[in-house]
Amino acid sequence: MSARTIRARIIDGKAIAAELRAAAAAEVPRIAATLGLVPGLAVVLVGENPASKTYVGAKSRAVIEAGMRPFDHHLAAGANEAELIALVQRLNADPAVHGILVQMPLPPQIDAARVIASVDPDKDVDGFHPLNAGRLATGLPALAPCTPIGCVKLAKTVHASLAGLDAVVIGRSNIVGKPLLQLLLAENATVTIAHSRTRDLPALCRRADLLFAAIGRAEVVRGDWIKPGATVVDVGINRIPHGDKSRIVGDVCFSEAVEVAGAITPVPGGVGPMTIACLLVNTLRAACMQAGLRAPSIV
Ligand code: NAP
Repeated sequence: MSARTIRARIIDGKAIAAELRAAAAAEVPRIAATLGLVPGLAVVLVGENPASKTYVGAKSRAVIEAGMRPFDHHLAAGANEAELIALVQRLNADPAVHGILVQMPLPPQIDAARVIASVDPDKDVDGFHPLNAGRLATGLPALAPCTPIGCVKLAKTVHASLAGLDAVVIGRSNIVGKPLLQLLLAENATVTIAHSRTRDLPALCRRADLLFAAIGRAEVVRGDWIKPGATVVDVGINRIPHGDKSRIVGDVCFSEAVEVAGAITPVPGGVGPMTIACLLVNTLRAACMQAGLRAPSIV
């Protein structure tokens, strides 16, 4: 068999996420029996952004399927910051709500940083609150952002341990790149974080045993950037023209990368489904923390 015919193992994020969702659902009756509570997740949408509406709908369906309680709130596109923060504060005070997620992006009249800071850190299932970011960075127990948690879980389906592996993360956002760096460090990987000002990105990537792309630009990472046999996790979701229609591609050129990598996540069907599954896990974790119960082993 020639080297060209050896294709990467495809990491099936959809199937792995379904298992995680089922495991989270299995914990709900245990918590109900032990504590007499049902984990509750509040999802707040402001405005009519179609992509946000789709995400919020998918999250609420997943919450119901897992046997948890959904609390959906929809504010008009013209809502102001004070109204949104007042709603968050009501949810902070509601004992039936264990997790709060404010769907981003917010309309321009609202300062997202102030809204994030208004969420009770113990209910911050998005892991965006500065207190949780600080706790994660200092190695304290923290609610961490769902997408990077999912990325690490996917990498660990390929490598039982990430210890000592060279990891390169492309992207330094607060929601993906930076928390991913912290989670990988906690797994004892040797981590380099790259961004738009990084010099010779292809050479840097070629050193990586684990390559994570969170760039937000279609198919930037080419096949010859990848170390043969490396594990590639593609976070990107980019819509590109396709005939009269459009299609979704990642930040990695999949058709090239699949010929070089050892394992790779597809887009769609890789990281995306893991984000919602990890949101359920974070909600369980938050409910347990608030009730003083040990977090389930899937966390
Ligand atoms: P972001 O805030 O726009 O950050 C992008 C990062 O990529 C920045 O750090 C930027 O560098 C870097 N970058 C941009 N162009 C680059 C280039 N040519 N070379 C190297 N680095 C470059 O994006 P994000 O929120 O982290 O999201 C990244 C991607 O993940 C998007 O496609 C998004 O849709 C997707 N995403 C998916 C999920 C999911 O559930 N699957 C969740 C969240 C995000 P600078 O800092 O220097 O500008």
